[in-house]
Amino acid sequence: MIDKDYSKLKVAVLGSTGSIGTQALDVIRELGCKVVFLSAKSNAELLSRQTEEFLPDAVCLTDPEKSDDFLFPRNRKTELFLGEEAHVKCISSLDVDVIIHAVSGLSGIPSALEASKKGVRLAVANKEAIITLGDVILDNIRKYGGVLIPVDSEHSAIFQCLLTNRGDRSQIKKLILTASGGPFFGYTSEMLSNVTPAMALAHPTWKMGPKITVDSSTLMNKGFEIIEAVRLFDVDESAVEVVVHRQSIIHSMVEYIDSTVIAQLGSPDMRAPILYSLTYPERVGSPVAPLDLIGISKLTFDKPDYNVFPLLNTARRSIREGGVAPATLISADEVAVSSFLDGNITFDKIPVVVEKTLDKASNVNTVSVENVFSAVCEAEKIAKKIIAEL
Ligand code: NDP
Ligand code: MG
Repeated sequence: MIDKDYSKLKVAVLGSTGSIGTQALDVIRELGCKVVFLSAKSNAELLSRQTEEFLPDAVCLTDPEKSDDFLFPRNRKTELFLGEEAHVKCISSLDVDVIIHAVSGLSGIPSALEASKKGVRLAVANKEAIITLGDVILDNIRKYGGVLIPVDSEHSAIFQCLLTNRGDRSQIKKLILTASGGPFFGYTSEMLSNVTPAMALAHPTWKMGPKITVDSSTLMNKGFEIIEAVRLFDVDESAVEVVVHRQSIIHSMVEYIDSTVIAQLGSPDMRAPILYSLTYPERVGSPVAPLDLIGISKLTFDKPDYNVFPLLNTARRSIREGGVAPATLISADEVAVSSFLDGNITFDKIPVVVEKTLDKASNVNTVSVENVFSAVCEAEKIAKKIIAEL
């Protein structure tokens, strides 16, 4: 199906055992790229199977306790590195053309920062690094001569819609992010108090890792995407609109000053933005199902319910406050979501914990790696205390 030769393209996949990581390897298998490095946290068993298939030069497990479960490939020497520090060192010494960054959570920040200094193509799925340190990452990309391609489907869509504009940001009126609305679209606040982890983990359209699936059900994920859009496309928060589009066919849009709206459409399949992040600016034959517009028949659009899903506004508040407030937001949400999944708080308390943490945390205006990490630690402590007192 793929009509060009990508066998010389050297690719690294960070977080290769996750939802995005495994789909990235599906695309890489189709393209026939050379995999030079894979990493995961603790899933040694799947990393072993991926290593046996793709024969990278090196792999890394950031949780050193799992090293005994890793099986080396039979026909090639692959080096195994262990621990977070080794992960960053491996990235710094990689000989690579594209790094796909699909590590989940705030723990993906050090590897994203290192990858942004390589002067290569960085295909970023990890939201946390962009939201907390997007400006630093983009500075590194410019300074070291790399390219950043967003993998998140909405931002990949906007990136593609902006290609018609030749870089003149003054012609953009607004970015329109589409949201599936999650599994609880149409719910009242009362109904949300009865939501169980199993209900929150069943997303109607997208199959994703557990954290982002819960974030999609609270609309925190869409709030994160507003911040990602502000960071990646250098627009004001007020110029990013969210529209609920249940079918997830339009992945996002750009409205220009002449009121023309350019949209990007496609089947809801993360392999599409992953493939584009590898082949940009080329397009190649794809395993993604073509759109059947007549079969779909209707595309609908609704206003998000900001009262039932207050985290959309909490995200906006954090950008307006600026500094390290978005890092506080993400850290508080990580604590709240894991507490919900562990059965310690109810679903409707997730926004309460996040909002109260933002109220109590100190904000620092200068966004540096150090300040972001101390904001993350402070928010974690505050959020845990709020949960204990609920
Ligand atoms: P998953 O939870 O499915 O996978 C996370 C991956 O990261 C796993 O390979 C995991 O390893 C690895 N990992 C976790 N912590 C570390 C660490 N400290 N060092 C190295 N590897 C680590 O997440 P998703 O694939 O769903 O999401 C990945 C990122 O992409 C997130 O930031 C998410 O917000 C973003 N994203 C995801 C989308 C999706 O459709 N899934 C869409 C858009 C963005 P192990 O398996 O061993 O735990
Ligand atoms: Mg998305």
